[in-house]
Amino acid sequence: MQPTDTNRVTELELIIDLHKNSERQGPGSKNDTLKALEILNLPTNQKLKVADIGCGSGGQTITLAEKLNGEIIAVDLFPEFLNELNEKSQKLGLSDKIVTLEKSMEDLPFDKSEFDLIWSEGAIYNIGFENGLKKWNDYLKVGGYLAVSEITWITNSRPKEIENFWKAEYPEIDIASNKIKQLEDNGYTLIGYFYLNQESWLKNYYEPMKVRFETFLSRNGNSELARKVVDENQYEIDLYQKFKDYYSYGFYLARKN
Ligand code: SAH
Repeated sequence: MQPTDTNRVTELELIIDLHKNSERQGPGSKNDTLKALEILNLPTNQKLKVADIGCGSGGQTITLAEKLNGEIIAVDLFPEFLNELNEKSQKLGLSDKIVTLEKSMEDLPFDKSEFDLIWSEGAIYNIGFENGLKKWNDYLKVGGYLAVSEITWITNSRPKEIENFWKAEYPEIDIASNKIKQLEDNGYTLIGYFYLNQESWLKNYYEPMKVRFETFLSRNGNSELARKVVDENQYEIDLYQKFKDYYSYGFYLARKN
C-alpha cells in the first residue's frame, strides 16, 4: 500500500500494512505447529483435505503443506496476506498443495463433512471461540480433527490491570479448562493441549513487529492514525512483558464426535 493521501487510509488498512511482509501475524512458531501435529497423530495412509482458517501470510500453512499428505485450502479475509502466501508456496514448490481462498471465516463456502482437518492459529477470536467451534463443526467429517490456538489465561487469577485490558479486547478470554468444556459441549473430544512459550510471542511476533514500526510510520507519512496503531501495539507489547506469566495462546487439539 502506497497511500498518497494518508487521511483517507483507514485504521484497518494500516493494521494490515503493519502486518504485511512478516512471517506471522500472531504469536506462534514452526515448533508449535509441529508439536500440535505430533499430538494429533494424523493418519498417514490417506490424502487429507485440510482447511487453514485465518491463515494470514501462511507461516503455519507452509509447515502443514510440507508435512501433510493432501490438499490445504488456506482462507483469509485479506488478499494482501494471501498474495504473500501464494508467492511463498510457489517459490517452495508447494503450490499444488495449497489453494488460497479470500473469504470470511464467518461465512465459508464449504460442504458438510468436507474436511479431515481444520486448522486455525491465532485467528478464531475474530468470530469468537465458541461461535467458531459451532460453525466449523459442520465442515468436519465425524472423527475429523480440529487444531485451534486461542488466547488463554494460564493461571486461575491475575492482576486487575491485565484482566481489564484483555477482557475489554476480547471478552471470551478464559482459562483452558473452560475452553476445553466449550469444545466438549460442542461435539468435540479433546486430544491434547499445550500453551505457547514466550519465545513464540517475543522472538516470532513482537520483536519483528517492533523492527517494522519505523518503516511503517515513514511509509504512512508519520500520520496520527499510523502513530496510534504503533502506540497501541507497543502498549500490548509492554503489557505482555509485564504480565507474560498470566496468559498465552493455548493450542487445543480435538476430534469431532
Ligand atoms: N494464522 C496466522 C495469522 C493469524 S492473525 C498466523 O498465526 O500467523 C489472524 C488472521 O485472521 C489475519 O490474517 C486476518 O487477516 C484474519 N482474519 C481476520 N478476520 C477474518 C475473517 N472474518 N475471516 C477470515 N480471516 C480473518
